[in-house]
Formats: sequence, C-alpha cells, structure tokens
Amino acid sequence: MRQGDTLYIDGEWTAADRGGTFPVTDPANGTEIGRAADAGRAETERAIAAAQAAFPGWSGRTAYERAAVLDTAHRLMTEQCEELAQLMTREQGKSLKAARNEVKYAADFLSWFAEEAKRVYGATLPSNRAGHRFFVLRQPLGVVSAITPWNYPVSMITRKVAPAIAAGCTMVLKPAEQTPLCAVAVFEILAEAGLPAGVANLVTTGRPAEVGEPLVTSPAVRKLTFTGSTQVGKLLAGQAAGDMKRLSMELGGHAPFVVFDDADPVHAAKGAALVKFLNTGQACICPNRIYVHRSIMDPFAAALVDRVKRLKIGRGDGGCDIGPLVDEAALAKVQRQVADATAKGARLLVGGERVLDEGLAQGQFFAPTVLADVDSTMTIYREETFGPVAALIPFDDEAEAIELANDTEYGLASYVYTKDLARALRFAEALQFGIVGVNDINPTAAAAPFGGVGVSGLGREGGAQGIDEYLDVKLVGISI
Ligand code: NAD
Repeated sequence: MRQGDTLYIDGEWTAADRGGTFPVTDPANGTEIGRAADAGRAETERAIAAAQAAFPGWSGRTAYERAAVLDTAHRLMTEQCEELAQLMTREQGKSLKAARNEVKYAADFLSWFAEEAKRVYGATLPSNRAGHRFFVLRQPLGVVSAITPWNYPVSMITRKVAPAIAAGCTMVLKPAEQTPLCAVAVFEILAEAGLPAGVANLVTTGRPAEVGEPLVTSPAVRKLTFTGSTQVGKLLAGQAAGDMKRLSMELGGHAPFVVFDDADPVHAAKGAALVKFLNTGQACICPNRIYVHRSIMDPFAAALVDRVKRLKIGRGDGGCDIGPLVDEAALAKVQRQVADATAKGARLLVGGERVLDEGLAQGQFFAPTVLADVDSTMTIYREETFGPVAALIPFDDEAEAIELANDTEYGLASYVYTKDLARALRFAEALQFGIVGVNDINPTAAAAPFGGVGVSGLGREGGAQGIDEYLDVKLVGISI
C-alpha cells in the first residue's frame, strides 16, 4: 500500500510538497491503517494545470479509444473486487458483503459509460428558413473538479470519473479525508488501464477547504461535480457561481417510506430494515421517516423489531450487518436525535444506545434502533440522521400520507408499499422526489438516472442522462 505518495498528478504518484501526511483510521477500532498525502493549494493547482493540458489530446481521441480504457478499467476492477472490498471494509467500516456489492456497482459505471461514450449523438433540425440548416453538437465541456464522500468510497468515484472521461473531459478528484485509500486504489486501476497522463488526477488532503477553493473557483475548471452534505453543497455552489461553472450536486436526503394497509406488513418491514440499516444507516437513500397505516402499525413494528434484534453488530469482516459509524461526530448526532425524540414522547422499541461490548468500545458502534410515535416536533423528523435509527409515524389515509411524505425540503429517494396498482401510480406521480421505489428498496443501477430535487441537489448520475452532465450543447446554424 502507498504510504504518503497518494497524489496522482500528470500520471505520476507523488507526495505532498512538504511531505505532509494525515492518518487514515479503521472506524471499527480507531487504529491507523495508513497515511495519505496532505496536499494543499499548490499541488491542487498543478493537478488542474495537468488536466487542462491533457484536455485537447483526450477530447480529440475517438469515443472508441476512450471506451477501451474504461472497458479495461472495468475488467481490472472486477478482477480486484476482493482486495478492494477488504480495503473498503477496513477504511470505511461496512461489511465485506456490502463492500463487494459496492465494488460491483462501481465497476458497472465503468462499463455503462464505456458504451455511452459511443452514443454521444448530435442532431440536425429543420430550419424555418430556406437555404439554412441547423446542427446540434454535444461536446466535452473541459476540466472537471470532483469532490466525493466517504460513505460509498469507490462507487461515488466511478459514478463521476466514468462519465467525465467517457465524454472527453479531464478532471481532478478530491476524495473524502476519511477514505483516501479507496480512491488511490481506483486511480491505480485507471493508470493500469492505460489512461493517459493528466486525464484524471487525484488530490488527497486532510484540509478540504484549502484544496476545495482552487477546485471550485479556478477559471480553468468548467464544472464541479459534488456528492456530500447539503450544507457543504450549498457553500460550494455559491463559490462556483463566480464564473458560472456547471454544477452537479448529489446531496443529502430525508426519504419517506410509506406502508399502506393493503401491503403485507412483514414483507414491508423486511424491506424497511434492509434499506434503513444499509451501510449502518449511512446512505443518502436510507428512509428517515417510516409512515405506516395505523391499522397495521403493530404487526409492522413487531416484524421490524424482530429483524433488528437479529442484526449482528461488529467489525465489517466478521460477517456483521451493523458496522461502526464513521466518526465521533456521527455517533453524537445519532445520540442527540434519539435523546430529543424520547424526551418529546417517542417510544424506544429496541436499541437506543452506544454499543460498548468487548472489542467494540474503541469504535463508534450504535445499536440499531426503532422509535415509535415519532412526530414533527422531533429533530429526527427534519434532520438527516445518517445512522441506524428507524423512526415510525402512523397515518390514516392516502391524502394525509402524500402530504406527510412530501413534508420535507429534501427530495432524493422515496418508497411506497402497496398492492394497489392505481394507488402506486398516483403516489409515484405525486411524490416530490428524484427516485421512487414501489415495493422496491433498491431503485438504483448504473443504467438508471440517480439524483434529487429540492435541497437534495441538481443533475443526475448514471443512466443515459449521466453523460449529459459533462457535455455542452452547441448549435451550429449554416446558411447555404
Ligand atoms: P460532507 O459534505 O461533509 O463531505 C463531502 C465531501 O466534501 C468530502 O470530500 C469533504 O472533504 C468535502 N468538503 C467538506 N467541506 C469542504 C469545503 N469547504 N470545500 C471543499 N470540500 C469540502 O459530507 P459527508 O459527511 O462526507 O457525506 C455524507 C453526506 O453525503 C450525506 O448528507 C449524504 O446524504 C450525502 N450523500 C449523497 C449522495 C447522493 O448521491 N445524493 C450519495 C452519498 C452521500
């Protein structure tokens, strides 16, 4: 494993200018598992310059040549799935099974955008004038800055890198300070796949604001693609407005999960448990408000509690379902939300406290928790939890359910369980979210557009739409 030389700039692995590094720790026990280069402004500016210099050459390659690199990267990532998953579990804390699934999901973006590279079609339009023609070209927009989070430390990178380089853009990526080693592993694959120098550059840092500033404000950068919290997304969007950069923003969520009385409460509880406790609740698509029809609340809650009691808590490599939270701040947020809810009348059905069992006290483990009788006065009803707490709220009819589900400024994922097709369609159309799962807890794939509305963000990743985010549309009018 690289020790400190984790910057990948213009095709070379290097250390930070003054040799500075920062520790990378295992969230399950706090031990140091490696060190990453602590880049600052100067290294970032060099990476941007390298991307700028590489742009004419890379955008001038044929789509078939760009696709070939992505196809090779896909093969390498698939071959290295196990090593990558082991690293992810150590660095981020999720279970090995979940880490393997993430690597497969991440690799899917490489193959999907290898194909999409070849389908960047233009258009010819009928003109309203004789002797005149219109053409529409779609062209790579230039140098892209990418900033990614720790919770999906491999797939959030390929979801940006694959469409950017497929389109012919060049880029600089800054991964989260908690998970730089997974980013290094992805960039080692890109290098081995034959990506030319300067096309994709990696800048690791423990000082995100210092590196973020040139990434977000440099005139050489034409686009910022960001995945992370709404709070930081708003800040960066403001900074990027200076010279009207293009933006993709994949931000926080506050997903409603609505269970009607015609749904099977046990089946719905199984779905709720799987998606609520996904990645220990640290996914942007995790339900934050679980609305259950009053008539089936008791069997639903009983089935959910039963499943929660069977979840195994521990290190990700020990066959566990619930891993550690990423840091002390994440643990404190969950504890604060649970204390606030119970003080205001929520009933604790299971969990509710930090796990200090032998071997776990050094990590940030929080017991999977179910709260009943949650209401709109509680912090958890509005604030993204990003932890393993399921908040149950009863409702009485469909009109009320849709109003409650839409009662948030976020708009990423949403879920509805019903056997009534007409109701499912009414709901899917009325939910003000970018993603709706109907009796489905996994409405995501590389081939599908992922993204939110409201303060959950701008733009889409994946699907046919994903490459549009890296293309400018140019109109050519010709008099003949
Ligand atoms: P975060 O906003 O704290 O950090 C995300 C990234 O931004 C990290 O790389 C961090 O170093 C960087 N950053 C922080 N401050 C910065 C600054 N001033 N300048 C430049 N960069 C800066 O978010 P997080 O806690 O790492 O991630 C969790 C959040 O991400 C949650 O809100 C979650 O919902 C969201 N998320 C969204 C999606 C999606 O697709 N919509 C996917 C995963 C995570």
